[in-house]
Amino acid sequence: MDAEAAAAAGGGGGGSVAARSSPAAVQATNDDAAASKLSCVNKGYMKDDYVHFFVRRTTKRAPIINRGYYARWSVLRKLLHQFLSAGNGSNDQNQKQILSLGAGFDTTFFQLQDEGIAPYLYVELDFKEVTSKKAAIINHYSQMKEKLGPEASISIEKGEVRSAHYKLFSADIRDIPKLDSVIQMAEMDPTLPTFIIAECVLIYLDPASTSAIVSWASDKFSTAIFFLYEQIHPDDAFGEQMIINLESRGCPLLGINATPTLSHKENLFLDHGWQRAVAWDMLKIYNDFIDSEERRRIERLELFDEFEEWHMMQEHYCVAYGINDAKGLFDDFGFKKD
Ligand code: SAH
Repeated sequence: MDAEAAAAAGGGGGGSVAARSSPAAVQATNDDAAASKLSCVNKGYMKDDYVHFFVRRTTKRAPIINRGYYARWSVLRKLLHQFLSAGNGSNDQNQKQILSLGAGFDTTFFQLQDEGIAPYLYVELDFKEVTSKKAAIINHYSQMKEKLGPEASISIEKGEVRSAHYKLFSADIRDIPKLDSVIQMAEMDPTLPTFIIAECVLIYLDPASTSAIVSWASDKFSTAIFFLYEQIHPDDAFGEQMIINLESRGCPLLGINATPTLSHKENLFLDHGWQRAVAWDMLKIYNDFIDSEERRRIERLELFDEFEEWHMMQEHYCVAYGINDAKGLFDDFGFKKD
């Protein structure tokens, strides 16, 4: 079970547990995310022709988990589309970059490539244990490898992929000097519009590391969006259960008490150099931002009667983003009512 499944399932945490964080347990949340995304894909919630390469055993998730993952996928997708099309009318070359922190087995680059809207450069970072596996899988499946072009070089040992438009590197993202060197190695240009993704990642870090990463990104990228998706509201009954469940799996939410509410998430950005910031919970995002037609489509896919649980669960996840807009591209970026 991953964070959402753990929270939705409730119970089973068993009272007092040590809040010890193990890198292997945090990495395992990535395997759960991939399995849950595949469950959604198999039910027709969304299309992803690559995620099945990363999942050993196909599992069916409950409708509430599928719907939660769909919402998570859909909000990121919609904001990415906004970013990728921002300023497209101008004469600028319009090269853009995406940097994914703790990317896990995410396949967004390959999906965007298929849609013909991949950015100039897409860079992913994760622990070496994860990037080695990812590099091996990309190397093994021609459907993925051929998307990288003929010049691609892959090192499973180093956990690295280098190609013209996609790069994968190993890094502990808490190591700020390493972040600097890795984005240099990846040949990112700090002056280009950049979308930074931190999906279910920063909440597992100690708050000082999260602040340092958010500050670093603001210093580095003057025209950028920093997107995060993660848990909120640790203090009510559902939140307490969510915390116990994750602690008992060895991946406590080390960051949640530093940013327990939407305004804390916004302040995380505003206090660390970002010009603007917005945070919405996933219930509001699902109801007001996800396209209503899409919502109607996916609501017909499975029988669904867990409405109370759904509301509670979605209120415990949010998307927050910070905006730096030196080039004036992002006036229209962000949440609006559908
Ligand atoms: N963003 C992906 C994966 C989320 S799971 C998705 O949403 O599908 C969390 C990922 O963050 C794991 O792959 C884990 O290895 C990575 N991670 C956690 N702490 C990290 C750190 N300090 N440095 C690099 N990666 C980290």
